[in-house]
Amino acid sequence: MKIIGLIGGMSWESTATYYNHLNQEMRHRRGGLASAEILLRSVDFSRIAAMQSRADWAEAEAEMVRLARSLERGGADMVLICTNTMHKLAEAVERSISIPLVHIVDTVAAALKATGCGRPLLLATRYTMEQDFYTGRMRALHGLAPMVPEAEADRALVHGVIFDELCRGTVRPESRQAFRDIIAKGAKAGADSLILGCTEIGLLIGQEDSALPLFDSTLLHADAALDLALTDDAPCLLRAS
Ligand code: GLU
Repeated sequence: MKIIGLIGGMSWESTATYYNHLNQEMRHRRGGLASAEILLRSVDFSRIAAMQSRADWAEAEAEMVRLARSLERGGADMVLICTNTMHKLAEAVERSISIPLVHIVDTVAAALKATGCGRPLLLATRYTMEQDFYTGRMRALHGLAPMVPEAEADRALVHGVIFDELCRGTVRPESRQAFRDIIAKGAKAGADSLILGCTEIGLLIGQEDSALPLFDSTLLHADAALDLALTDDAPCLLRAS
């Protein structure tokens, strides 16, 4: 079994989901007392969020590269950046290490394509929804046609809920309802699926809140890491369900 290296803490609320899911899924796949081999480097998110909000992407890139290298030196066999937003810097990180980077966009895109969905509504931070690094990769590498909430106010609401509530451990029913409304508008505008393109959104909504088939980037990313961790291993147990 390979060692999964995680750059986490962005925020730790979602890193906890990665940690739980990796271990639960490994138990599910291998049975018995099996659990995942993980090396976690968790950061102080207040420092990173400040870099994001002052658009100091050069400093953020240097930081991500430093963290990825430290995971490689520590013995990780792969690196996951446990946030969609910081995939803005994924290519630089990938170039700086000699172990694989499991790219969150590629794992989400693979799941969409496997189910025949091509026009997903992306809910994420403003950085992820409004810059090109995420949707551009989906279009260029995967032939998908992602869309984001049309209204500026809706994108601002999603971003605000992520930073002011979910990353602080707060889950409000009013925010859930607001997300439901935005999803319904996206469906009306032609979306055929929904990407939870921020690793905390799964703390707020699930498939029951969306008429569109839902793709949770956190869980898909973790699953892709497990697939890689188990390559070259003995065959897995068949899933019970
Ligand atoms: N975890 C979030 C994401 O997946 C937001 C935190 C961040 O800005 O890094 O994008």
